[in-house]
Amino acid sequence: MICYYRRHMSQPRIVILGGGFAGLFTALDLAGSGEVTLVSDADHFLFTPMLYEYLSGEVEAWHIAPRYDELLEEENVECVEGTVAGVDLHTQTVSLANSARTFNYDVLVLAVGGISNYAGVEGAEEFSLPFRKLAHADNLRHRMVSALDRIPPDMPPQDVRRELTFAIVGAGASGCELSTKMADLLLDAFKRRALHGEPRVLVIEMGDRVVPGMGEQIREFVEDALRQSHVEVHTKTRVVKVTPEEITFEHEGRLETMKTAGVVWTGGVRMNPLIEQLDVEKTKRGLLVVKPTLQLSQHVNIFALGDIAFYPDATPTLAGTAQLAFQQGTLAAQNIKAFNSNNELHTKHFEELGEALSLGTERAAVLTGGKAFGGELARQARFALYTSRLPTWHHRLRVGASWFFGGTAPQPLLPLGLER
Ligand SMILES: Cc1cc2nc3c(=O)[nH]c(=O)nc-3n(C[C@H](O)[C@H](O)[C@H](O)COP(=O)(O)OP(=O)(O)OC[C@H]3O[C@@H](n4cnc5c(N)ncnc54)[C@H](O)[C@@H]3O)c2cc1C
Repeated sequence: MICYYRRHMSQPRIVILGGGFAGLFTALDLAGSGEVTLVSDADHFLFTPMLYEYLSGEVEAWHIAPRYDELLEEENVECVEGTVAGVDLHTQTVSLANSARTFNYDVLVLAVGGISNYAGVEGAEEFSLPFRKLAHADNLRHRMVSALDRIPPDMPPQDVRRELTFAIVGAGASGCELSTKMADLLLDAFKRRALHGEPRVLVIEMGDRVVPGMGEQIREFVEDALRQSHVEVHTKTRVVKVTPEEITFEHEGRLETMKTAGVVWTGGVRMNPLIEQLDVEKTKRGLLVVKPTLQLSQHVNIFALGDIAFYPDATPTLAGTAQLAFQQGTLAAQNIKAFNSNNELHTKHFEELGEALSLGTERAAVLTGGKAFGGELARQARFALYTSRLPTWHHRLRVGASWFFGGTAPQPLLPLGLER
């Protein structure tokens, strides 16, 4: 076992890598329990479950992407914006890309999350749009508006349809939420601009059904929303190539190439390169093997959580979710405090807190207590639920008041000069 931890120090140096659900919630719960530094490659947290509403303008950037210095200003946590380039497990040092600054740690929290998985598909990484960050949503909205702006009002419907084809790869929750949102925004823009015909939004899935891994109850709402938003669903279909203007896919041995105005990739998550570099125990998929206390078995002063960690007790449906990551953040903080004071560390069974999917600009589906419901009521319930899940009381209050008094209506796709 390699462990150079200095016990009984007065102010242990706790360095947290990554400020997503796992890292930020650990930092918030740890505040005041040592010299805490949060290193992340952005200056803000991102509440990813509402990135679809940011795309549609139902919410604003400050609602779902508060800055770390605002969230942690009273918590005595140092926030450092930088991309972590490496961790030296022997000298207990973290180094940054493009900066000479290094950080020595007594306790390290690995919470850098995953990255898009393009599964080796030709052209996918170069030419499809990812959808994981605020900037990705901005790029996609810009792409949709530019495509609309290129359509003259007298263009025949079949040509309009070809020019305004968007393909979303992956029909997991993310692909279904995104495709219904995009389709509703485009349909609305068609009416406002009096264009002929309809846009074409496809969701392409290798499996035989949408939202694999979710229960039948919620799938019915998802399928109904896809129909209502006029999204074309292509299951048992594999994307084989993406170019700047086309997508090629294969279904039952037949290849088809289609012109597109944009391909969005929501086809899964893969390991963060920073974690790939670490010489520690991993699963076949490259996830870090952690003890039930969230410690690495060979490095008891290193805790790993969120999308990069394999926690055997988490059900397959909970693995790789925000709800698991923030619950783990609370346990990690509790255990780091116990570790620093030589107390016993805890384990926890993490709860499934239900599902809440945004489906287009007017509907949602919520599964709670084993019961699913949909429509506008579910949309409102989702906003209420997510207000309570945002970080810090202060931020929740500000955002809740803004949604309650200011409303959450979508912002139409206006011509480029008039856009947000
Ligand atoms: C669009 C979208 C919608 C989603 N919707 C839901 C949902 O409705 N419900 C749900 O439960 N889950 C949802 N998820 C999944 C959820 O976001 C993740 O499971 C969760 O964010 C994992 O938390 P994490 O802290 O492990 O990683 P992340 O939240 O990804 O945080 C990792 C952080 O580390 C930073 N980072 C990465 N590499 C480095 C580096 N080298 N140096 C410095 N910083 C680095 C990243 O920028 C990021 O801030 C969604 C994901 C996406 C992309």
